[in-house]
Amino acid sequence: MYADVHSIERLSPSLLRLEFAGGTLDEFEASPATDAYIKARFLPAGSPLMVPFEDDDVDGVDAEFRPRPRRFTIRRWDPERMVMAIDFVTHGDVGYAGSWAQRAVPGDRLQFTGPGGSYRPDPEVDWHLMVGDESALGAIGASLESLPATARASVFVVVDDREHEIDLPSTADVQTTWLHRRGAVAPEELLRDAVAAAVFPEGRFDVFVHGEAGEVRSVRKHLLADRGVDPDGASISPYWRRRHTDEDWRAIKRQWIAEQAADV
Ligand SMILES: Cc1cc2nc3c(=O)[nH]c(=O)nc-3n(C[C@H](O)[C@H](O)[C@H](O)COP(=O)(O)OP(=O)(O)OC[C@H]3O[C@@H](n4cnc5c(N)ncnc54)[C@H](O)[C@@H]3O)c2cc1C
Repeated sequence: MYADVHSIERLSPSLLRLEFAGGTLDEFEASPATDAYIKARFLPAGSPLMVPFEDDDVDGVDAEFRPRPRRFTIRRWDPERMVMAIDFVTHGDVGYAGSWAQRAVPGDRLQFTGPGGSYRPDPEVDWHLMVGDESALGAIGASLESLPATARASVFVVVDDREHEIDLPSTADVQTTWLHRRGAVAPEELLRDAVAAAVFPEGRFDVFVHGEAGEVRSVRKHLLADRGVDPDGASISPYWRRRHTDEDWRAIKRQWIAEQAADV
């Protein structure tokens, strides 16, 4: 599938919301998951390919110019307007996806497959725990938006500083704790430390923890070891790894997950 960039909104110094429309979005089949994601394919600079391309076209192109797959969460799908919103973290001129979003102008095209995804807040629990960094704000935002007014959620998000906080609209009773890397002694432990220090509300809760791999692993270890969370019922997974490109990360992800499973 493919779609055109329709609008661009800066949500924070490092977060851009791109809306996509047109292309083949009329064939898009939405998912009930609030962490639904697409696998988009970004073309390196100088690639002779143009969206839309076929797999056969890719085979004929030098490896350095082949599309790079990256996963991105669907922040919102509007079936009436047939518009899809994605919140992209921009993290400098490195990589393919963030820098593409940074340069994007209306009319630019993105090719993708999907959606995948599996989490949706469980309506049977007493409250919801959501933890992540900027890359998880799309899923956390969509999850909060899906909650009824009677629901309750505790949210922990790590960002650079106050300027990077964004609105997370919801009719539910939501307590959001923003953590700031800037000035922190151990920024990579902020999420874990905040979750560990929190007094959890009474009752049963479900768990959504996504973001940087090391941070997710630390939070997971705490939740399983100290809070009795059952890993089978929890949505916990690393989206990206610091100092690793997505290609490097995918190459070690299976091993990482196996090691993480042995933590607790
Ligand atoms: C299911 C799923 C859903 C995701 N949803 C989103 C989403 O909605 N929005 C989003 O922005 N990301 C999302 N991600 C994460 C995104 O796919 C990765 O961050 C990806 O690596 C970005 O690709 P890139 O080409 O910009 O950088 P890469 O080429 O992969 O990496 C280049 C450098 O940038 C660093 N880097 C990568 N991501 C970040 C980051 N977020 N912050 C700081 N440094 C970074 C890398 O460690 C590396 O050093 C999701 C990932 C998964 C698996």
